Amino acid sequence: MASIDEIKSRIDILDLAAEAGVKLRRTGRNYTGFCPFHSNTRTPAFVVWPESGTWRCFGECNEGGDIFKFVMKKEGLDFKEALQRLAEKAGVTLERLQPEKLEQKEENQRLRNLLEDAVMFYRHQLLNTEAGKFALTYLLEKRNLTLPTIEAFGLGYAPHSWDATLNYFRGKHYTEQDILDVGLLSERENGGYYDKFRHRVMIPIRDENGRMTGFGGRILDPNDIPKFMNSPQTVLFDKGRLLYGLDRARKPIRAADQAVIVEGYLDVIAVHQAGYENVVSPMGTALTEDQLRMLKRFTRKIVLALDPDVAGQKAVLRGLDAAREAMDREEEHGFDARGLLRHESRLQADLRVATMPDALDPDEIVAREPAEWARLIADAKPIVEHVLDVLVSEQDVNDPKVKAEIASRVLTLIEDLQNPVERDSYRQMLARRLKVDERSLTGPKRVGEAVRRMPARKAEPAPSPSAAPLAVPVSPFRKMEAACLGHVLRRPDLLPRLDRRLQESGLSALSVADFEYTDYQAILLLIQGSLEQDEADTTAFVSARLADELSETHSELLAQPVPKGADDRLLDELTRQVLQMRRTVLSESVNQLRFLAEETHASELNRSAQQYARVLQAIDQARKRLSEYRRE
Ligand SMILES: [Zn+2]
Repeated sequence: MASIDEIKSRIDILDLAAEAGVKLRRTGRNYTGFCPFHSNTRTPAFVVWPESGTWRCFGECNEGGDIFKFVMKKEGLDFKEALQRLAEKAGVTLERLQPEKLEQKEENQRLRNLLEDAVMFYRHQLLNTEAGKFALTYLLEKRNLTLPTIEAFGLGYAPHSWDATLNYFRGKHYTEQDILDVGLLSERENGGYYDKFRHRVMIPIRDENGRMTGFGGRILDPNDIPKFMNSPQTVLFDKGRLLYGLDRARKPIRAADQAVIVEGYLDVIAVHQAGYENVVSPMGTALTEDQLRMLKRFTRKIVLALDPDVAGQKAVLRGLDAAREAMDREEEHGFDARGLLRHESRLQADLRVATMPDALDPDEIVAREPAEWARLIADAKPIVEHVLDVLVSEQDVNDPKVKAEIASRVLTLIEDLQNPVERDSYRQMLARRLKVDERSLTGPKRVGEAVRRMPARKAEPAPSPSAAPLAVPVSPFRKMEAACLGHVLRRPDLLPRLDRRLQESGLSALSVADFEYTDYQAILLLIQGSLEQDEADTTAFVSARLADELSETHSELLAQPVPKGADDRLLDELTRQVLQMRRTVLSESVNQLRFLAEETHASELNRSAQQYARVLQAIDQARKRLSEYRRE
């Protein structure tokens, strides 16, 4: 992954703003406050969007950008300096892009294509073959899935054969090594290969951006083992950094401001089908810190709805340690005790546990009665209560050693809570349940003596921040900008024609102001520079002048799908992309401005809103014209 993306994933724009002394207030999906760059204490015209990691001042500055731009403006740095500053803060090592890395990237894309092919192959086996009928009947009748659900999740069937997959891909001119590399083959001890997944329901596992990474396979024959088998660790598949279903669930999670975690993929699918789409699964392992960090970008409210067995309960406790690690890290980021922001963020890290009744799994609950799911999730217990219940129920609380152990465990959780009233009431509850005097429970230090002598169960040390790259949820917004800029980078000759077209519609030419992200702005400037100098080979011109730090961004843009078609169609497509990009930003801005204007009665904001709305109209007219060109 590009270091720039990794830095973006590790540094929260909200933290940066808080450290700069900006007090932010949550207003829907975003936060508003007073702009730190111009003096004004009347109109809070500064808006932050945590999901895309961007900000904008709708007041005097009338500009915005990403975390880098924020630091550049705040500290008076250039992009390179801001990048270094934030890389250090995030614990990311900036490396020059080695040619091997570029090759790796292309290789990964090739392997992803192979996996997409495999999705189609297994799907065909499930839906169109005699051999797949049994699996299809199982999904429809035993798991109560519908055909549209099966299609939407791309489910398939791996044939009952040692070499069906192998032969299929050989026929498509893939090497055995390729098929092995994506985890679809196993190696025989005496050489040779065989299909890893046989006679199983195949569940494609995608990353949060919808890219293929591997498969989960569920048995159809109850005698087969293991019941669930995932792809082995490959360059694309790293279970600890994936959450099954997140590609489909990220929007619903954001909308509901809540993520529900279930154990298995089939639970995710069944619960989605029942209409609850904010559900993901760590695929049979305890939650990892990386997984929680991914979720944290979408919500701080997490409900663990795990299977009612002992393993499930244990998984909750293990997941809890990971969760606390993920949260503790946030404080280390220098979260400053200034005003509302800290308070709110703390409260948002809200972990609950939903207990499934009658020993039923989540998919059985929604099959019994979909509305019951909503009730169970609404009734989820705060984690402190749940842990206390579990610990007390399985041990003898009259044993003083057990008392001390439970107290230390639960007090740590209680101390995590920001609200002093809540802390008090949980301490009382703990004292009652352990039958001890509440005064002995005033904090972990007081029971410390007793606890220290015991082999306390300690959470695994967190990996150092730079140990491994995280999977980064790329904001849809950044994707949109990347698609557009990638297009311009490959076909810079279209740029003058695009600009002419925009101007004919009364719109401004493409400029850095169209891009929120600093790295993209820098690359656009280079492309424009090359055109001004009449350079024949823009890619070479841009590469030659590219700062090292931008080379990864550059090669990622070049890795975008190559636009195809006649020039006029390409120009239409590019125009459409630019208009779409502007439209998205402008309509968001208009909404935001109207909201701010209403709240603060600031007439200048209303005037800006009207101006923006006029541009929006011009854009819509241009879009209309564009669709007319197409029809001709
Ligand atoms: Zn400002």
